[in-house]
Amino acid sequence: MTQNSYTFTIGRFECMIINDGGYAGTASALFAGAPEQALAHALAQHGETPDKLPATCSCLLIQSESQLILIDTGVGFLYSMEGRLVATMREKGFAPDDVDIVVLTHVHGDHIGGCINHNGELTFSNARFVMGGDEWHYWTSQESLQDAPQWAADTAQQILPKLADRMRVIQGQNEIVRGIELIPAPGHTIGHVAVSISSDGDQLLYLSDTALHPIHLEYPDWTASVDQIPEQTVETRKQLFELAVREKALVTLFHFMPFPSLGYIRRLADRWQWEPAASP
Ligand SMILES: [Zn+2]
Repeated sequence: MTQNSYTFTIGRFECMIINDGGYAGTASALFAGAPEQALAHALAQHGETPDKLPATCSCLLIQSESQLILIDTGVGFLYSMEGRLVATMREKGFAPDDVDIVVLTHVHGDHIGGCINHNGELTFSNARFVMGGDEWHYWTSQESLQDAPQWAADTAQQILPKLADRMRVIQGQNEIVRGIELIPAPGHTIGHVAVSISSDGDQLLYLSDTALHPIHLEYPDWTASVDQIPEQTVETRKQLFELAVREKALVTLFHFMPFPSLGYIRRLADRWQWEPAASP
């Protein structure tokens, strides 16, 4: 049975990765720009089949001394799905009303869908919301939405207006609360962000959708069809992979299997490699 949650600490922060659910992707979408033979080789090395690559959705709940902070909300009830985030939170003793701050790394349905419940009301009714400024401004501008993929624009228009009066936008690299900082990570979307959680010498980098599969560490220039700005995605990957290596940080990537999507990024000559953390 798939595990629903995994608890660990980063210094004074109690962290819980929560499994919102799984799905399968295809190699043609995940590695849209990859040369055929090299891709076949990489897939074989990772034991993956091209038409069905399992993926997960790993949200992060952080308890500080005084606040409960959720990073990404899963899919909620979008796309006729039902994300498991809230049910698992309840099992672990957290009500949605307990959440003080919700950080949204980008405006894709699997990350912001859980902001609203099946009635279209706010799920985390007491929370303030935080998002990167570039992301918020892009997805709330009628003009830019005309150039965005329709599915993403629809999700933005369905959800973001409900968050507007609770939204704090953060420009550049900046702290949300002490020890938790947004890091711009553009490319996957125009204003996609990563989050650094650090305390007492421990660090966790929540890289969200900077990479969607461990193969992206070995071939950072193989972007996915959903990456909005491919060249910038590659640049961001290289910078953040290098940051993770330099800081020896624990890393979580939202869609990486196996759950809880935790591991380390290792440097291999001119590329990188994913090393899952010892199994929980
Ligand atoms: Zn995603």
